[in-house]
Formats: sequence, C-alpha cells, structure tokens
Amino acid sequence: MKTLADINFANKKAVIRVDFNVPLDENFKVTDTTRIEAAKPTIDKILKDGGSVILMSHLGRPKGVEEKYSLKHIVDKTSEILGVKVKFVNDSIGAEVEQAAKDLKPGEVLLLENLRFYKEEEAGDEGFAKKLAGLGDVYVNDAFGTAHRAHASTTIIANYFPENKVFGELLAKEIESLDKVLRNSEKPVTAVLGGSKVSSKITVIENILDKVDHLIIGGGMTFTFIKAQGGKIGDSICEDDKQQLALDILAKAKEKNVQIHLPVDVIAADGFKNDAQTQVVDVTAIPDGWQGLDAGPKSLENFKKVILESKTILWNGPLGVFEMENFAKGTIELGNFIAEATKNGAFSLVGGGDSVAAVKQFGLEPKMSYVSTGGGAMLEMLEGRTLPGIAAIQG
Ligand code: AMP
Repeated sequence: MKTLADINFANKKAVIRVDFNVPLDENFKVTDTTRIEAAKPTIDKILKDGGSVILMSHLGRPKGVEEKYSLKHIVDKTSEILGVKVKFVNDSIGAEVEQAAKDLKPGEVLLLENLRFYKEEEAGDEGFAKKLAGLGDVYVNDAFGTAHRAHASTTIIANYFPENKVFGELLAKEIESLDKVLRNSEKPVTAVLGGSKVSSKITVIENILDKVDHLIIGGGMTFTFIKAQGGKIGDSICEDDKQQLALDILAKAKEKNVQIHLPVDVIAADGFKNDAQTQVVDVTAIPDGWQGLDAGPKSLENFKKVILESKTILWNGPLGVFEMENFAKGTIELGNFIAEATKNGAFSLVGGGDSVAAVKQFGLEPKMSYVSTGGGAMLEMLEGRTLPGIAAIQG
C-alpha cells in the first residue's frame, strides 16, 4: 500500500481528493467539521515536508453550477482548522486555475471549486481528469466517502500519475481498520449486523460468514429470521419474500461453524411511535397488534457475553429504532458492551451509515477503536468488493 511516507513532498505540488462534502446551515456556515478535520493529518504532513497542496472535493449534488453548493462557503472554516490561509479559485479547471496552481509556493493551500459543477466529474471523463492531473506532481486520494465511485477525481485521475499516486492518512486508516477485522483479525471475531432489512445486508452477511466466529443479528432484520423459523412476530417489520434466504443463511452459518445469535426477547410496542405502550415479550411470541422495536433484556445479556469474549468486533446497524428514545436502549447498551471490550483490548470497527450516527449521538465514538467515515464505501468493502478509488492507487 503506497502511502504519504513513500513520497518526499519537498517542493512538490500534491493534488489531493478530499471529502469536504460537509453540511451547511441556511447562512452557509459549516455545521459539522468532522470531514475537514479528518483530512487535516494528510494536509499537515505534506505542508510540513515542504510541499504545497491543491484540494479538490465535491459538495452536495448540484445540477451544473449552483451558487449554494460553492466550496467558497467553507474556505474560512478550512483556513481556521488547517491554521493556514486557504486560497480559493472559483473553478476546478481552466487557465485561472492553472495559474493559481503554478503560483502556489511550499506551505500554501489552494482549494478548487466544487468538482460536480462539471458533469464530467461523475461521468469519469478522461479529459477532465487529465486537466485536474495537470495541476500537480503527486496525486493523493484521501476521500474514503467517494472511494466506491469511479469518478474523474477519485479514480480516473490516478492513471496520470503512474509512479506518484498514494493513499492519504485517512484512506489508509480505513483500509487498515477493515483489514484488521476481515483479514488479519485476532479471534474470536464477532460481527453485529442490525438495521431494518435483510435485503440491504444480504451480500454483507454472505461475505462475512467466511471471516467471523459469531454473528449477532438484531434490529428489524431479526423478524424475517424468526418468522422463517416458525415464530410469531405480530406486526413487526418483515420481508416475507426473504424468509427462504434467511433459512439459507442459517444453514450456511452452521456449515461454516459460525454461531448466529438472534434476540430471544424484544421490547414490543403497540404502535410505531415513541410514546406507544410497551411490553417485553419472547421474540417468537409477539402478539398481533404489537411490533418488536428494540432488543429485550435477555437478548442484551446474551450479546454482552459474546461481545466481551471477542477480540475483534465489527458493528454495522442499530439494534432497534434508536431514533426514538424509548427504543434506543439496545443500541446504546450494545455500544457500551463494545466500548468495554475495546477497553479490555479488543479491536472494534463501527461502519456503514446508521450505526455511525448512533455511536456519535450517544457519545460512544471515542470508545471505539475506529469509526469509519464512509457509509456506502464501507458497506461495499464489507460486501467484499474492490473499490475503484482504492484499486486505482494500487494498480
Ligand atoms: P439500515 O439503514 O438498514 O442500517 O437500518 C437502520 C434503520 O433500521 C434505523 O432507522 C432503525 O430505526 C431501523 N430499525 C432498527 N430496528 C428496527 C425495528 N425493530 N423495526 C423497525 N425498524 C428498525
């Protein structure tokens, strides 16, 4: 894996694909700086080496040039975080951009305008990628959030730097963390998969059955498995057409010696709302008119035992409807168990969409070994796919 350490950046211009797709409020102020901070180690390192930096990113989903998606809105915040006055050009290619890149001195940072103002970006256009490539001497990809897209700035551009293309610190850390979970993992390895549907996680489940010793299944997915085995699930969420698939997964797990742990009890509610009536019931005996919205106490006890005995833990997807306070307990408790295991020396990776949101919301982020920054990209890696942005650097 080629990283920043493989290049001497002194007097070099690095073109860095970052993910500065940050949320803005109605006054165009950045409301969450996580992604800018996440790119800081890479930028700092290159500047410290005596290089200069050309930052390129997308912001939102503009249709052509749309002022509200201009990256000019984030210039001040980025300057503040980097401790360097960031220069900005209101285009990403063309004569003015080329001049600004040429004038860049060691220690300076230039931010280009939103790449998606050109449709050529998402189309992976060769000509557009070549123009971006012409701005610098080295290509650095540090945008994990878009590594699963074969766009001009994330993948195609790498072709123009056969010798000088490397992973940034953030992207390298994402790859290493996943490697620690799926390949060079310390046993026992446990994956916790939650969320609403079996159908959106099926490829992940199939891929990780070869890598784990325990698989905890929770959240809305539970009920397809329970119903398929003859349980009564009341009005709980269920994908009837995925019942056979659920049985196949259970059989495959047995074949591969993977222990599957499903909830044994649930917090059932008489409606999909926070102030619904609730009762704890056996997961196989949920009365009609009631639906399971969170894992019950016995289930959490069982999950705790498995988690505390694990040396490697992967968590994707909440155990219940954590957006509602009364059904967040299972997800919070699970996070606490993983935090405790991590404190005792286990390696924990949280990745893929909603579990990251949950971990942040409940203040558990610092207690995990690594929390992934890319939802879709992480899910595709868990599915065992090679991401084009990663392959382009390795190739
Ligand atoms: P996903 O996007 O597939 O990871 O699913 C995340 C969503 O699953 C969250 O919005 C949760 O509210 C939802 N969820 C988790 N458990 C349940 C459940 N028992 N019933 C309905 N939805 C659930």
